[in-house]
Amino acid sequence: MFNQTMQHLGEERSVIRELFEYGNQRKQQIGADNVFDFSIGNPSVPTPDFVQAEIKRLVDTMPPEVLHGYTSAAGAPEVRRAVSDYIQSTFGVPMSANHVYMTCGAAASLTITISALCEEGDEFIVIAPFFPEYRVFVEGAGGTLIVVPSDAHFHLDFEALKAAIGKHTKAVILNSPNNPTGAVLTAEELKQLGALLDQKSLEKGEPIFLIADEPYRELTYGAEVPCPMNFYHETIVCYSFSKSLSLAGERIGYIALSPFCCRADDLFAAVAGAGRKLGYVCAPALFQRVCAASLGKVSDVEEYRKNRDLLYEALTSYGYECVPPEGAFYLFVKALEEDAVAFSERAKKHELLLVPSDSFGVKGYVRISYCVSRSVIERSLPAFLALYREYR
Ligand code: PLP
Repeated sequence: MFNQTMQHLGEERSVIRELFEYGNQRKQQIGADNVFDFSIGNPSVPTPDFVQAEIKRLVDTMPPEVLHGYTSAAGAPEVRRAVSDYIQSTFGVPMSANHVYMTCGAAASLTITISALCEEGDEFIVIAPFFPEYRVFVEGAGGTLIVVPSDAHFHLDFEALKAAIGKHTKAVILNSPNNPTGAVLTAEELKQLGALLDQKSLEKGEPIFLIADEPYRELTYGAEVPCPMNFYHETIVCYSFSKSLSLAGERIGYIALSPFCCRADDLFAAVAGAGRKLGYVCAPALFQRVCAASLGKVSDVEEYRKNRDLLYEALTSYGYECVPPEGAFYLFVKALEEDAVAFSERAKKHELLLVPSDSFGVKGYVRISYCVSRSVIERSLPAFLALYREYR
């Protein structure tokens, strides 16, 4: 009667959402202060004042029929120009506004890009651990998700990648700074990856694309985030302002095609076609303009750094094992038993909500989202210690 795949997708909540909903129920039962909810990546740092001021300025000065009306499908021309100018001046890439497409956040950037690229039989490579929605986006477009492990430090494992890339590979999806590990790929890694993709594209006889999913680009603690367009021609950047400006609910981001992409204008037409087919019409008009005025700016990363340091120092002093995150706002911690789902269930007994790593494509870890208020972390530490003592 209706599409069973869609029904299944709607019924099967993601593990993260499941835990988040459980947390909400639990907070009602025992009080919000007694639940330590580290499940979801909803930015906790307030949207910066300059963003609020820009919203007010636009509302006060722009004719409402323009401000709230449709823009061109690809975005308001002045916004697309601002994005391309920003990329050009920041990363030295000779961007064209014609290759910028405004979207409803990174999820839309990714679904549009994957739909624009995907033909029958295509494979999309992701590096584990990976953002679980990649599977939904790739399979929803008719593609096949190929999972490649990362190395022991959650960086690229070139041998594994080399073995996985073949004649069906359409693209490799990278996410740096990374959810869930906080790893930031280095320029050297991107250079090596660019060389590998060049060689594999040659063997395949057509380009293999690099999709750079970058919602955490500005959220780093000192690490430089190199621009992948400078290392590989066939690069498509999927950006979002959800995390950098704490605007996750406003749904705003962009797709930027490297000017060096082969047949970039045709590829852009495919992006526009995918956006049309998926029914996006245009990205939110007010927030296109707000973000054009806020390019390169970021909410208070120091707050996340303090959370990261507090949690990392405390957990490692108790005996937990984790790689120190260089960016984003997640800590990926080794579970204290093999089965991360069982470990997460045991953590719940201490009112700690930790996401098991299985849906990220690896076993034996939990993800802790530290985009929460400092007091949640401070109050949760005895629970982490008690949980550790239960095992060791
Ligand atoms: N990609 C990654 C790696 C993410 O972590 C998220 C959200 O958490 C998204 C994409 C989707 O972001 P948006 O809210 O901008 O759609």
